[in-house]
Amino acid sequence: MSFKTIFEPFRIKMVEPIAVTTPEERIHFLKQAHFNPFLLHSEHVMIDMLTDSGTSAMSAQQWGAMITGDESYAGARSWHKMESEIRDLTGFEYVLPTHQGRAGERILYQVLGGPGKIFISNTHFDTTRANIEYAGATAIDIPVPEAANTCFEYPFKGNIDTLKLEQLIEKHGPENIGAVILTVTNNSGGGQPVSMKNAMDVKAICSKHSVLFLLDSCRVAENAYFIKHREQEFKDFTYREIASAMFRLTDGTVMSAKKDALVNTGGFIALKDENLAIKCRDLLIITEGFSTYGGLAGRDMEAIAVGLREVFDPSYLHYRIKSTAYLGDHLNQAGVPVMLPVGGHAVYVDAKKLYPHIPPHEYPGQTLVCELYLKGGIRAVEIGSLMFGKYDEQGKLIPAAMELVRLAIPRRVYTQSHIEYVIEVFQEIMKDRHQTKGFKILKETKFLRHFTARLEPLKQEPVLAV
Ligand SMILES: *Cc1c(COP(=O)(O)O)cnc(C)c1O
Repeated sequence: MSFKTIFEPFRIKMVEPIAVTTPEERIHFLKQAHFNPFLLHSEHVMIDMLTDSGTSAMSAQQWGAMITGDESYAGARSWHKMESEIRDLTGFEYVLPTHQGRAGERILYQVLGGPGKIFISNTHFDTTRANIEYAGATAIDIPVPEAANTCFEYPFKGNIDTLKLEQLIEKHGPENIGAVILTVTNNSGGGQPVSMKNAMDVKAICSKHSVLFLLDSCRVAENAYFIKHREQEFKDFTYREIASAMFRLTDGTVMSAKKDALVNTGGFIALKDENLAIKCRDLLIITEGFSTYGGLAGRDMEAIAVGLREVFDPSYLHYRIKSTAYLGDHLNQAGVPVMLPVGGHAVYVDAKKLYPHIPPHEYPGQTLVCELYLKGGIRAVEIGSLMFGKYDEQGKLIPAAMELVRLAIPRRVYTQSHIEYVIEVFQEIMKDRHQTKGFKILKETKFLRHFTARLEPLKQEPVLAV
């Protein structure tokens, strides 16, 4: 027997009230936030889909473990619990704790990178790229061509292009390659999964050329779900076995525990090679903390150890991936242009298609983000020309390649009725979408302007782009 209803495999023990706001209140709050939801107070948001990072609800087991946290400076019991859990999962001998993912990236890519070095990935996450470039190296993204088509259904759109990988290694010389980094799932590419076959091919190429192969494993459990259900050879493996097998193809990993470790902060580096680990440990001690806590409290390490096991629970992963897909599929049925197939942690809406009358310089993505807040108190994030747009010498906007809005889903936080509510809000947005006006920027900064930009809605009919 199989039921259609998506069943949350948990019951709620502790609740956090959501303040239900009226449309009038939301207009006021959004004006105060200069039409940039990053500037909203979270207590004025009803459904917060800004990010899935660090926003998980922890389990009673995690909270229970936190009470037992050992806060000793060196050699804490909580550290040994976290270390052995990570060793068991990844097979890597050397584990270094960090306060979040990017702290691990900074350490690892400072050691491996520098001027003249090349890093190659399916897609570098923005902090990954920033850390590589900050250390003076170059980051190259080579997703498979299938990834570029937003409505083409391909099971592993997160894959790296192995043909190009081989060419790039030969072109630059294996000695100049800092590492090949496989991001699972591919966050910047829409949370799309990477197949085990692809990881095995990368392993073969890296071994042949003696190039370091790393896994950016933030969402390795969600990726394992897709492998089990889309890659025939792995259907009889458990999710944890699949993740373990993937780690064992590589030489090391960086993980932001704020995603699939189901905690609010934390991360780690895990490595096979002792010499590399020693170099990283030196940097860790200088900036993060001693190598048995690395910026984390003992209680955080307890929560990570438990979370890394819970995330592979089949009922949890089923609910997680099905609930995300449910949102994407129902939006699609309502005529909302979504990226297909739906990835693991978020649904991406193509705002350029939703508002064909709003040109990129009037920010269709930001328009949708504001509509979501005004109509439903939902907070999402624009990934388009507000985030990635640049100006040419004449001050004219060079738009981003796509105008997307990301609805990221926090883990274990919202119920199915919250998801139904989001779908209903979109139905309202669809009704007057042809009358919806774009925005203009009033104030912005040179870097990462989307975090702080101030905007204003356009009153007149928007001028059509030529
Ligand atoms: C979140 C994330 C990071 C960075 O981790 P933080 O904990 O936010 O510092 C790196 N890579 C990927 C793929 C991520 O999703």
